[in-house]
Amino acid sequence: MPPWPIGVFASIDAGLGVHLDVARELKVPTIQLHAPHAATRNATAAQAFLKKCEEAAITVTAVFGGFEGESYADIATSARTVGLVPEETRAARVQEMKEISDFTRLLHCPTVALHIGFVPHDTASASYTDLIATTRDLLDHIAANGQQLNLETGQESADHLLHFMGDVGRNNLFINFDPANMILYGTGEPIAALKQVGHFVRSIHCKDAKWAAPEVRGTSWGQEVPLGDGDVGMETYLRTLLALGYTGPLTIEREIAQDPERQKTDIGHAVRLLTQLRAKILDS
Ligand code: MG
Repeated sequence: MPPWPIGVFASIDAGLGVHLDVARELKVPTIQLHAPHAATRNATAAQAFLKKCEEAAITVTAVFGGFEGESYADIATSARTVGLVPEETRAARVQEMKEISDFTRLLHCPTVALHIGFVPHDTASASYTDLIATTRDLLDHIAANGQQLNLETGQESADHLLHFMGDVGRNNLFINFDPANMILYGTGEPIAALKQVGHFVRSIHCKDAKWAAPEVRGTSWGQEVPLGDGDVGMETYLRTLLALGYTGPLTIEREIAQDPERQKTDIGHAVRLLTQLRAKILDS
């Protein structure tokens, strides 16, 4: 595949992403997939979905795990509910993530991805120690499926994420870099963070956002906006990715599933913007 194939975040059933039909209409060659609900995670569903992808010449480049009970209503709620960090759901969610990895194998896709949650800052705590053990156990299952796990950025600073990955110490743990999340969560300037974690970046999101006001940054959300309208700086972002040697998919994420018409319009605009920037940067 030529460098920087454009992609979109898509869903099989109701989910955060667009329907495959939208990806097909936009003629993008790749998608990342939001993992379907348990009832749809079977060989029949995988075969049917793969067939549709083949007909549309679309490659699934990553499957994102997500869980019942997660809420992104505000930053504090996200910290309490998202990923493998919440202790009361940790064991059940790891089990579910292993099943998602198995389903991902049925889609012949080598990458699963995940918001692991807000990694505890107290690295001496029992919760942190158990999270390390849990993540290793998950990574071993994923490795047996011939896969890697890419962690979504945003909930940790670049420093904290690198520290955590170092403590996990497995060679199939990488990063899905989302520059807008660094802004939305207020965890760091995205380009500086990208340079810091770049050696681990194996997939990325093209998403944009505006910073929250300084006095509430890190406690209140920034604002997600159409690609190119925010504070990321898309050309700088792409040039930084190129300098890091990243040639993988540019996966557009526009998290306004409640407004599918606007979502589709904004993603169409993002495809055009990325197509122009890619030509400008790669052909010069
Ligand atoms: Mg993202």
